[in-house]
Amino acid sequence: MTINVQFSARPDSWDYFREPLKTAFAGHGLNVALSRDHDPASVEYVVYAPQSGPQMDFRIFPNLRAVLGLWAGVERIVNNATLQVPLARMVDSGLQEGMVEWVTGHTLRYHLNMDAQITDQNGVWDRVYPPLARHRQIGILGLGALGGACASALAALNFQVTGWSRSQKTLDNIRCLSGRDGLDEVLKTSEILVLLLPLTADTDRVIDARALALMPKGSHILNPGRGALIDDDALIASLDSSHIAHATLDVFRVEPLPADHFFWHHPKVTVTPHLASETRADTAAAVIADNIQRHEAGQKMKFLVNRKSGY
Ligand code: NDP
Repeated sequence: MTINVQFSARPDSWDYFREPLKTAFAGHGLNVALSRDHDPASVEYVVYAPQSGPQMDFRIFPNLRAVLGLWAGVERIVNNATLQVPLARMVDSGLQEGMVEWVTGHTLRYHLNMDAQITDQNGVWDRVYPPLARHRQIGILGLGALGGACASALAALNFQVTGWSRSQKTLDNIRCLSGRDGLDEVLKTSEILVLLLPLTADTDRVIDARALALMPKGSHILNPGRGALIDDDALIASLDSSHIAHATLDVFRVEPLPADHFFWHHPKVTVTPHLASETRADTAAAVIADNIQRHEAGQKMKFLVNRKSGY
């Protein structure tokens, strides 16, 4: 029997995902008709990424069985009241690898003080040795698919890693904390803080003036999570007072970040244009095919979003 799968995402991603999806469906023994313009009444699954404009009205698909997100972050889908079927988000090994590389690269920039040689060279033979990673404390807010992978990679480089999550975790070589006290503790001890939380009502502006004040003077922030995790004005104030030394921001409240936004011009901010990581078609297509196969077999899909907790 043919399964009708609707692809609903930006037009350019159709070219990127179409063939990998078809290959993955065939590889999983699924007879799928993949299209961008099925008759809505025939659609059983939607492979989905939000586009600009109004929210999708999923009620046009009366026979919808599940929605499979192409993105890890679901804050633009999770409150869509017209979505009444299971929603799976994207957990993709390619996405994880990319995030590990971005976080590790920018962590090492701060850890080794690379800017001193790359941008601040001044002809002075001034040898300041960086500490070993084993003497550098890294905090990671969010120990999920991405934060957990980054924590493990940094711990494998010998960094002292403390992670914070909603539920208490046990991970090899990582000090795992949870709860309000746990947050304060990770903030107090982070020389480099990495934000990999989802954006929810609970995490909105988790990094505010109070949180920044708890961090050690001269510490650094990496935000590849979501822009609204940080109170922007509080961050700028903290950078201007030299309490926080520098921030590298990949995500913003408004994207694309407007050309005249102060983050572009602030000497203590590096902007990367939401490129920390990306869903990779080959690996992600296999995840989607596997999940449809599971659903068709009456099994629970993987990576289901909890609509109540918002991620
Ligand atoms: P997961 O859902 O796998 O992990 C989220 C983590 O955050 C979990 O450890 C969770 O705790 C923790 N968490 C959630 N809410 C709270 C809270 N209120 N207090 C403490 N901890 C909390 O997400 P991913 O790791 O897959 O992705 C994380 C985010 O990364 C995405 O939501 C997205 O915003 C961002 N992202 C950015 C990209 C980029 O290119 N910049 C690319 C892809 C994603 P628990 O484990 O207990 O549930």
